[in-house]
Amino acid sequence: MVSLIGIPYDANSSFLRGPALAPNRIRNMAQEGSANRFSESGARIAGGKVYRDYGDISFQNSNDPKQAFKTIEKKMLKLLEKGNPVLSLGGDHSITYPILQAYYRSFPKLHVLQLDAHTDLYDNFYGNPYSHASPFARIMESGLVSSLTQAGLRTVTTHQREQISRFGIQAIEMHNWSTDFIHRLQGPLYISLDIDVLDPAFAPGVSHHEPGGLSSRELLQIIHQIKVPIVGADIVEYNPARDLNDCTAMVGYKLMKELIAKMNGS
Ligand code: MN
Ligand code: MN
Repeated sequence: MVSLIGIPYDANSSFLRGPALAPNRIRNMAQEGSANRFSESGARIAGGKVYRDYGDISFQNSNDPKQAFKTIEKKMLKLLEKGNPVLSLGGDHSITYPILQAYYRSFPKLHVLQLDAHTDLYDNFYGNPYSHASPFARIMESGLVSSLTQAGLRTVTTHQREQISRFGIQAIEMHNWSTDFIHRLQGPLYISLDIDVLDPAFAPGVSHHEPGGLSSRELLQIIHQIKVPIVGADIVEYNPARDLNDCTAMVGYKLMKELIAKMNGS
């Protein structure tokens, strides 16, 4: 059983707001009638059967990132007490920091696979250390994870390259793409999936269009080929305000089904 939680929080977005609308737009794809509920492995991904939907986190004062992060961490701690993997629907990518703060209590030796066009390693992005451009700098300097693999990168700046070597991150960039990293992943594994890892042709509904990304099929193959236990995941940065005919919402729903199937071991 997987716990599903929506985290409608986008106040740490640096360019456009919108990902706060994402959780319900992704859930709606299960209802709107065009797709069935099966994963590609043949598992029926029905709420109450293989996952339980705990709704959305509500935020009292979403303009204060510290307060919002406390709210996210608290909710995650509660969900993790159940002993089930948690799939979070973001939200901008800043939410992964409080999520992994909670995970650290249950999984002090957690390995993380970040699928993203960007490293999100800025030490301080225009005065906001909690920006969605910075969560993995905070995560690494806090020592929350045993290893970080970043795959799908295509915008690595000089500063970020310094951060990658400072933190000992395995960085797989698109300009010399290879899927060899999949076999080197260790468990327990957490997957942080920024939708912009996909080429904008496959997922236009993101704030930061970065051409040269993965196809939907390549991304699904990565998920399918992982052999180690997956104890949690997030799907972040879907921005419905930029979507075309809900096609990125459907990508989000597809990834949700495949991740739930995988976390349930099917
Ligand atoms: Mn990104
Ligand atoms: Mn990101």
